[in-house]
Amino acid sequence: MTEEKTVTEWGNPATGLTLKITGVLHEEQTPYQHIQIVDTLQYGRMMILDGVFQTSVKDEWMYHEMIAHVPLMLHPNPQRVLIIGGGDGGCAREVCRHACVTSIDLCDIDQRVYDLSKEYFPSIASALLNPPEKLHVHTGDGIAFAKQFEDYYDVIIIDCSDPVGPGEGLFTRDFYRSAFRALKKDGILVQQSESPIVQQPLVHAVYEAMGDVFPLVRMYYSHVPIYPACMHSFMMASKKYDPLKDEARTDCPQPMKYYNRDIQKSAFVLPEFVKECLRGN
Ligand code: SAM
Repeated sequence: MTEEKTVTEWGNPATGLTLKITGVLHEEQTPYQHIQIVDTLQYGRMMILDGVFQTSVKDEWMYHEMIAHVPLMLHPNPQRVLIIGGGDGGCAREVCRHACVTSIDLCDIDQRVYDLSKEYFPSIASALLNPPEKLHVHTGDGIAFAKQFEDYYDVIIIDCSDPVGPGEGLFTRDFYRSAFRALKKDGILVQQSESPIVQQPLVHAVYEAMGDVFPLVRMYYSHVPIYPACMHSFMMASKKYDPLKDEARTDCPQPMKYYNRDIQKSAFVLPEFVKECLRGN
């Protein structure tokens, strides 16, 4: 029996989530990050990158349903989708469920995340294990990948790690400008944008930076228990559609475990402290 070990998430030094490890399954340093795969008592199997909880079999569907279906349902006819990061395959699994989507480019910088996700997280990486024809998996820096396209994608989803190491460049105006170019004239960008409770300066910075590039930026949020303070934000930058005004599609794939038609709108209804955070107060 593994000695009673716990793993505390990197997060904000003053906060963390401590979980009891029941087994260390794999650990390695890749050219991009330190990867740990552990079994935990409370959240089952979990991937940790550079000491930061990334995904767990117990709650991954909350995050992956919300990062994928909210933008895809707002767009009237999303056909071409780009996912940057997302090497565990969870976001791709959800995007593949939309029949209207005809082509998905998935670009993670670290091949080892793909490999280990297929080996240790078959339920999350199901689309990687049995890729539909429309799913094209690439290994490389998403920043360089996006630069190859102009007026091409309907939706771009940045399912990235935290703004440290390889993920840092994905939180910049330069990158948002290349994403803007890669999107069609009514395209939508969504990026995971951390916790509006314990990472407010970053949430505000992402909101400001996207606002300097896109005509419309809206934040929405979801519960993600393994993320700091459980409230996790997603920043949506849109060239045309407004999630607060425009009607979303109604043909969402079923079944869902978190997302529903009411959450499509209510996720954008923000508490006052979050509005203050976006204003930079
Ligand atoms: N989808 C998971 C979840 O449930 O939140 C976490 C995100 S996923 C594991 C984060 C991925 O972003 C990692 O696999 C990492 O390799 C990838 N990544 C970081 N920087 C990148 C970059 N510049 N280009 C492509 N992928 C990058």
